[in-house]
Amino acid sequence: MTEDEIPVDEVTAPWWDATRDGRLLLQRCTRCACAQHPPRLLCTACGAGDLSFEEATGTGIVDSFTVVHRAAVPGTAVPYVLARVRLAEGPILLTHLTGTAEPHCDQPVRLAWRPLPDGRRLPVFHPDPESPWTSS
Ligand SMILES: [Zn+2]
Repeated sequence: MTEDEIPVDEVTAPWWDATRDGRLLLQRCTRCACAQHPPRLLCTACGAGDLSFEEATGTGIVDSFTVVHRAAVPGTAVPYVLARVRLAEGPILLTHLTGTAEPHCDQPVRLAWRPLPDGRRLPVFHPDPESPWTSS
């Protein structure tokens, strides 16, 4: 499967549509107020089915990462950094970390976008030098 073949269903369609406008959405449970990602039918914390979408701030920190030297998809430029980013709202995204040769855990990062051929975008992150959490 290539990136432009990423499937969309009725649960994920609002999330994908928002990426076209450069907006990263999270689901918020109306019963317990937990935020979650990726979009699901039910809240992973309490099981309620009444979830709404809200826009994330686009800031977070690197929770963990690995540097990939042998890509799973032929033709992918290596090396690249695959990271778990914990958003300011709490949920974790598995994403690419760009713009740094020295990734590290707890590194403040900010949302950027990588375009897909069909107009959708994938959220990627890069170091955020303006974050109050960035050490100098
Ligand atoms: Zn809930």
